[in-house]
Amino acid sequence: MESVVIIRYAEIHLKGKNRGYFERVFTVNIERALRGISHELHRIGGRYLIADFRQDCAEEILSRLSRVFGIHSYSLGYLTENSVEEIYCAAQIVAPQSGSFKVETHRADKKYPLTSMELNAEIGAKLLSERKGLSVDVHAPQHYVYIDVRENGKALVFGSFLQGAGGMPVGTSGKGLLLISGGIDSPVAGHMLAKRGMTVELLHFHSYPYTNEQAKEKVIELSRELAPYTGTRKLSTVSVTKIQEEIHAKCAAELNVTLLRRFMFRIAERVAKREGDACIITGESLGQVASQTIEGMTSSNAVVSLPVLRPLVGFDKDEIIERSKKIGTFETSVLPFEDCCTVFLPDFPATKPKLSFIEAEESKLNVEELVQNALSTLETISF
Ligand code: ATP
Ligand code: MG
Repeated sequence: MESVVIIRYAEIHLKGKNRGYFERVFTVNIERALRGISHELHRIGGRYLIADFRQDCAEEILSRLSRVFGIHSYSLGYLTENSVEEIYCAAQIVAPQSGSFKVETHRADKKYPLTSMELNAEIGAKLLSERKGLSVDVHAPQHYVYIDVRENGKALVFGSFLQGAGGMPVGTSGKGLLLISGGIDSPVAGHMLAKRGMTVELLHFHSYPYTNEQAKEKVIELSRELAPYTGTRKLSTVSVTKIQEEIHAKCAAELNVTLLRRFMFRIAERVAKREGDACIITGESLGQVASQTIEGMTSSNAVVSLPVLRPLVGFDKDEIIERSKKIGTFETSVLPFEDCCTVFLPDFPATKPKLSFIEAEESKLNVEELVQNALSTLETISF
């Protein structure tokens, strides 16, 4: 009998001919998540098993697996020979000392001499006769003993299913560039696309010295929190200080935010193309603030040719907050800091800017020179 973590995968079984590819990426992602923890990864039938780890690492393994997309569910349990005696040994460890319980058997090996019902009855009866405080409840038990009889003469025995992160293995849906601000929304947006298999790289704009060093530290911290989910390898930062000063000095105040966002998108597109990112991702949600109107989004889209993905577009703030708490980025996101968008914020930003007005105001600036100048401030932090 051997202590193992059992991993069941989510949507990969749907992928027909590409299945081998999805499984390879999935395996690489599990190995990456467990880096630094000594273990073996095996495949048995439709399951993956983590074995040969130190018992005091079990909790850490479970915690890291909770952030790997493509995992449907996972369990801490035992791999045994499929004899009733061996299965019972494992069941004794998994079963509680008292309370109500139920044994539930699944047989992948249909030639196994006992039916599922027979094995349930046998293991259940042995446990009952040994532990006086136990009772069977097949409808609403407090505890379960799950038995999974595999094809290769082995069985898995475990007490619970932990819900995995679901989704698709990160890396199977290309790579995108997330504009990460330090607020609540953008990390959630990145998380959502990673869940659908996209590798997410990060770009942050700052207005140093108007924004301070802590603002940057906060974004680095958020990036670290996001990376186990998103496969992120680096955070790039670009200064938009000069751009904001120029806009402030030369253009209509109500267009400050609109114009800045168009610059952000232009810069993002250059970075994305250089890095091989297939799209730009933002945390915008329709109508949330003045710049997140359909007109505002259209004016930003107009300056780039890459697709812009806005996974939160139809979400309420409450829903976004709930997700960010679940992911674990909320606490960091709400730390106070100055975002570059709040520097030079006009009293009445335009909510429905006309493209002709935007272009007229923008023509007062040397757009290409400002973009190049901003790109020359690019710094990269690797994880
Ligand atoms: P968030 O909670 O993500 O900060 P928000 O509600 O504050 O979003 P905005 O400030 O309008 O909304 O920003 C909308 C989106 O633009 C953000 O979700 C993010 O993708 C991008 N963005 C805003 N500011 C920055 C920044 N300083 N650096 C990089 N991206 C940014
Ligand atoms: Mg923000």
